[in-house]
This record gives sequence, structure tokens and C-alpha cells, in this order.
Amino acid sequence: MIKTDVLVIGAGPVGLFAVHQLGIIGLKAEVVDNLDKIGGQCIELYPDKPIYDIPAIPECTGESLTKSLLEQIKPFKTNFHLNERVQAVSKEKENWKITTSKNKIFIAPNIIIAGGVGSFEPRKFPIEGIEKFENNGVFYSVKDKNYFKNKKVCIFGGGDSALDWAIELSKISKVTLVHRRNEFRGAEHSGEIARKLEKEDKLKIKTPFQINSIEGGKYINAITIKSEDGKVEKITTDYVLGFFGLIMKLGPITEWGLNLEKKTIPVNTENFQTNKEGIFAIGDICTYPGKLKLILSGFHEGALAARACFKLARPNQKYRFEFTTTSKSIQEKLGVKKSD
Ligand SMILES: Cc1cc2nc3c(=O)[nH]c(=O)nc-3n(C[C@H](O)[C@H](O)[C@H](O)COP(=O)(O)OP(=O)(O)OC[C@H]3O[C@@H](n4cnc5c(N)ncnc54)[C@H](O)[C@@H]3O)c2cc1C
Repeated sequence: MIKTDVLVIGAGPVGLFAVHQLGIIGLKAEVVDNLDKIGGQCIELYPDKPIYDIPAIPECTGESLTKSLLEQIKPFKTNFHLNERVQAVSKEKENWKITTSKNKIFIAPNIIIAGGVGSFEPRKFPIEGIEKFENNGVFYSVKDKNYFKNKKVCIFGGGDSALDWAIELSKISKVTLVHRRNEFRGAEHSGEIARKLEKEDKLKIKTPFQINSIEGGKYINAITIKSEDGKVEKITTDYVLGFFGLIMKLGPITEWGLNLEKKTIPVNTENFQTNKEGIFAIGDICTYPGKLKLILSGFHEGALAARACFKLARPNQKYRFEFTTTSKSIQEKLGVKKSD
């Protein structure tokens, strides 16, 4: 059980800046994110794209913004709990009890939901019985490529992830790349490499085919694939990898008794509190009249929510507004060295 002042749900840009705003007023935060990396949409959807409307930064990429936000919160030594989804939230006396998909429990007087458009989840194979093989033969991401070394692997998809992993794994495994169209969606250059590897007999390509069935007991033995004209082929394989993109699901957030409005959480703009005391919502997930789904709006929302968290986390102390330029106490928290 982990006790903290604030549990932040979501390690997107808004969740990260909220950690900063909490840190400078002396509140400790723990951050949980369903993704395996920090940065939310900036990292998952557009790491290389330039952003032009972060105040005082004329241009940065999704990746460089995430790096800078992480650098800014370094003094607070924040714990990130990645690959974990917040599942349940319930009230325990003055605190909230938060349980994750890995059964980790947090106790905190405050929760800041910076969950964006919900948790990103892989689009799955549309065939019956596939769940029993999930993470035991069927995967939607590669955590360690050596797991697939010297094995037979079927990769499904026509985008960049499918092509990149087909090319990469063909160096160490026997790979069959299956796509429902003859043309790939991913980078032209990657498509050309895949076709070249096929000619050199280092990679098999099956198009236009889709998965039809999966056979096996505890482990996968084989799959069948089917073309549009009904032709069925059987492929013996050890592993099946699907790269069909991500879908965003609000998921368990809808079950915590919060008011919802079109997949967003209404908040009051004084402190970004939801209809539950001690639960705040900021960034893309919150809504109020005039809401702009921009990173800069999320930063402001985090600043106000952080001050409201102080009241519940330190009920016997009075919050005092201070500037970072002149506050010795904030500078100490940031580890700023005195110049004289
Ligand atoms: C292509 C594109 C370009 C954009 N360009 C700009 C731009 O130029 N300028 C701009 O200001 N904005 C831009 N945006 C919008 C911007 O990315 C979002 O406003 C911003 O990412 C919102 O940040 P956030 O932290 O609220 O949410 P997100 O970045 O969505 O992060 C939310 C995180 O919460 C996690 N999460 C959700 N539910 C749970 C749960 N139950 N348990 C655990 N984790 C959970 C998710 O996995 C995710 O990582 C762009 C968006 C896109 C898609």
C-alpha cells in the first residue's frame, strides 16, 4: 500500500506539469499510466511532430516537450507506475483508495485525473477465443525482441509498427507478414525493404489475407488465414503479433461515480474539482464552458487543482501564494543553489 498526497492518473503533458505544481507547494505525487512510456498523446501519437503553441517555446516536438517536462520535475523524484491502469476508486474515511490493474493500492486524500482521451489500448484480433492466448502466444506489442528468437512468428498489420517489427524480427526469427491489402500503409521505404527481404527468402509475405482461426491448447500450434475470395491457408506458428493501431477508451473512469458529459468529466473552473470532493480532472479529459483541448490550458488547470489539493492534504496548514522567482522555500524544493 502506497500513501501519498496526490495520485495522478495519466503521465501525459498535463499530468507531468501537475506534478511540478504539486511539488513546488510541497505535495508528493505518484503517477500511474496505462502506457509503457511517459508522455501521453505527445509520445504515443506524434513524437516527431512539431508543436508551435507551448508558451515561450517557439517550436518543440512531442518527444522534446516530454523530455523538458520530465527535466522540470526531476527534483521531486516522482515514482511512475507504468503499464498499469487505474481500475477502481473508493472512499476510505478521509482518503481515496485507488486500485490498479496490477492490484497495487494507493491511499491519498486527492486524485488528479489527467487521463486525456482515456487509456490507449491496442485494437485486437476480431476472432473468437483469442483472449485465452493473449500474452501467451498472442501479443500486441514487443517488450523484448529476444523472446521471439529462433521462433516462428506471424505478424499482422500494414502500418509502420507491423513493417518495422517484421523487418527487425526477420533477423532472428522466421517471420510471416500478413496484411489484408496488397499495399502497405506504412513508410514506402519500409515496404520496399520488406519486399526485398521476401525476394531474398528472409521474410514471407501473405496479402491480401486476414486471420481466420487460431489452433492450440495451452500454446498456439497454428493459425489459418483467409483471403477475400475465400481461400484459406494454414500456417504453423509459435507466436502471433497484431499491430492494428490503438483505440482510446475511457475505461474504468466511467465507473467511479463521476458526472460525465460526452466522454469528458465536468469540473468547476475555480479548482477543477469534479462532483466528488478530492477528485480533480484536468487536461483533455475535463470539460467546462469554453474548454480548449490544448496543452497550455491543461497546464493552467493543473496549477489550480494542485492548490486545491493542498487544502485536503494539509488541513492544518494555510496555503500561501508565492512566486518561484522570490520564494526561498520553492527554490529549496527545486534544489536551486544559492548564488551568494
Ligand atoms: C496529432 C495531434 C497533434 C496535436 N497537436 C497539438 C498542438 O500543436 N498543441 C496543443 O496544445 N495540443 C496538441 N494536441 C493535443 C494534445 O496532445 C492534448 O491536448 C494533450 O496531450 C492532452 O494532455 P493530457 O495530459 O490531458 O492527456 P494525454 O496526453 O492523452 O495523456 C493521458 C494519459 O492518461 C493515461 N490514462 C488514461 N486513463 C488511464 C487509467 N485509467 N489508468 C492509467 N492511465 C490512464 C493514458 O494512457 C495517457 O497516457 C495534439 C493532439 C494530436 C493527436
